Amino acid sequence: MPDTLSLDEFSLDITPPGTCWKGWIHIGELPAGEPVRWPVVLHRGKQPGKVLLANAGTHGDEYEGIAALHKVARQLDPEAMSGTLLSIPILSPPAVTGGHRNGIWDNRNLARTFPGDADGLFTERIAYHFATRILPLADLYIDLHAAGTGVGIQTFIGCRVDEESDLVDTQRRASIATGMEIIWNTGGLPGRTLSAAWDAGVPALYTESPGNRTCDPDEVDTIVTAIMNLLRFLEILPGSYPTERPAFYFEDSRPAAGHMQDHHRSDVGGLFIPEVKLWDRVKEGQCLGNIYDPLGDVLQVISASLSGRVLTLRICPRVMPGEFTTVVVPFAE
Ligand SMILES: [Zn+2]
Repeated sequence: MPDTLSLDEFSLDITPPGTCWKGWIHIGELPAGEPVRWPVVLHRGKQPGKVLLANAGTHGDEYEGIAALHKVARQLDPEAMSGTLLSIPILSPPAVTGGHRNGIWDNRNLARTFPGDADGLFTERIAYHFATRILPLADLYIDLHAAGTGVGIQTFIGCRVDEESDLVDTQRRASIATGMEIIWNTGGLPGRTLSAAWDAGVPALYTESPGNRTCDPDEVDTIVTAIMNLLRFLEILPGSYPTERPAFYFEDSRPAAGHMQDHHRSDVGGLFIPEVKLWDRVKEGQCLGNIYDPLGDVLQVISASLSGRVLTLRICPRVMPGEFTTVVVPFAE
């Protein structure tokens, strides 16, 4: 078996039942001829069953998910599995190579590019190939994100809850099954991996971790536990998984409710100095932070538009007009 396959050559049965295949899928090349490839770890269970698809590295400066998929792969024994885990630890090689949110060769954000374009720029092609060749293989899909550079996020999991349907019910139960302590399910957003999964009828989840270019081992383990629980949820592994909602559970089905970049935006460019910390409880009207000008005068007070918990907070003070500062989610507590 060659260690690099074309998109046409790859399938879930390239490796025999009860084995693991580690290799690459060729997705293009650079002007000087360097190949660009997805790293792939395929655990095919001894017994047939469902398929869990997991990826990290949709953005290039988010590392916990990559480390978690590596750790899960080291723990799994395909002889003991009934079904398949298809893992792509780095979905956007151009972003991870550059260490940036966007692909470095076209400056496109993969999470705003779906469903992609077969003839488009590199990131658009990655989206197209993933949406058309990989996503349809899955019974359940999870995309592992983290806070990008200069932002802090309290670890949570989410899915789309635009409507009541069997798909949404499966997503909701799967999000609970992960055992993660905070669930924030929201209305859909275009361009994401999750919107491509939605269009394909594949139940899908996403996680966010503290990120900001860190890779805390405890945070990695939280994701490892979540993925192992999803393997039990799909009966790929034996065992039980959580079925009760965690204490911090909130749904907001309005379109784009989960678009963090829309929350508590700055009207002006300046330096945002927060008056709160991540995961603080805040009250409506409370000062979340101030935007200062270069002389140290306050240009804008950012006040909480609702009561709740600080789920996301701008850490790097530099803020441009229209950029978000803080996400507050009204968990019942
Ligand atoms: Zn991300």
